[in-house]
Amino acid sequence: MLGAIEAGGTKFVCAVGDETGEIFAREQIPTTIPEETIPKVIEFFRQYPVKAIGIGSFGPVDVNRESPAYGFITSTPKPGWKNYPFVQTMKEAFAVPVGFNTDVNAAALGEATLGAAKGLDSCLYITVGTGIGAGALVQGQLLQGLSHPEMGHILVRRHPEDDYQGKCPYHSDCLEGLAAGPAIEARWGAKGIDLVDRFEVWDMEGYYLAQALMQYVLILSPKMIILGGGVMHQKQVFDCIYNYLKKLLNDYVTLPELENYIVSPGLGDNAGITGALLLARQAVNEL
Ligand code: ADP
Ligand code: ZN
Repeated sequence: MLGAIEAGGTKFVCAVGDETGEIFAREQIPTTIPEETIPKVIEFFRQYPVKAIGIGSFGPVDVNRESPAYGFITSTPKPGWKNYPFVQTMKEAFAVPVGFNTDVNAAALGEATLGAAKGLDSCLYITVGTGIGAGALVQGQLLQGLSHPEMGHILVRRHPEDDYQGKCPYHSDCLEGLAAGPAIEARWGAKGIDLVDRFEVWDMEGYYLAQALMQYVLILSPKMIILGGGVMHQKQVFDCIYNYLKKLLNDYVTLPELENYIVSPGLGDNAGITGALLLARQAVNEL
């Protein structure tokens, strides 16, 4: 039995399952402060004989195994979580191997192993939710350099009719600052779920996301792009993205039919937790 944690900014999903990715039990725990959230996480896993735990975490996190801060959540503005030793805490509680990566890298691994990109050695998983983040599988490996990529914070050209200043606490009008769920809510004065019929909302969303996808396609050349997260429940955004991306790329690169290339997660909202389970499997295999 393996344990998995998808640590998000609003909730932690904890699950136990097996190495095929099947989930036997799960629980959601609100993300408040570590002193409240983590004891509940530990309590959940105490019920099961897990032989490893995989964590896909919100970030930024330190994923460099040579670093003294490996396994920490690092520079988050989220109260209490800055410089939090996540891996170390779980190892102390359970004395089992712990796999650790970003939430989106975990989701990319899940999708490439069992989801929409099953069998591919390359894919990009992007979440558009409270924030924007992307994880990439490149030549069969989760992309990592000095640290993990932060593809949600790239700069995009402004929509000519957009005078919203942007919501990123670090860069104001980066992609996340203009196109994540909270930016949509702040710009239009209502939550995304209540703006379903406003074409201009989703067209502008597509305008920004298509620019980001253009950069990712040009830089990483992924074999498939998977778009998840709460905002992407608005399926009409996909068509807006296809239209803008076609114009932007202008046939310079040859891509599959965009409807088959830029898709929803095959695992639905389970991409991240399934990927975390696979990180636990990797941690066992590395022993
Ligand atoms: P998180 O990023 O915290 O893990 P989500 O992926 O659910 O969680 O993203 C939450 C954001 O997505 C919120 O800003 C919310 O308004 C927006 N959102 C959630 N569901 C929908 C929906 N069906 N349509 C549009 N926006 C949504
Ligand atoms: Zn930013």
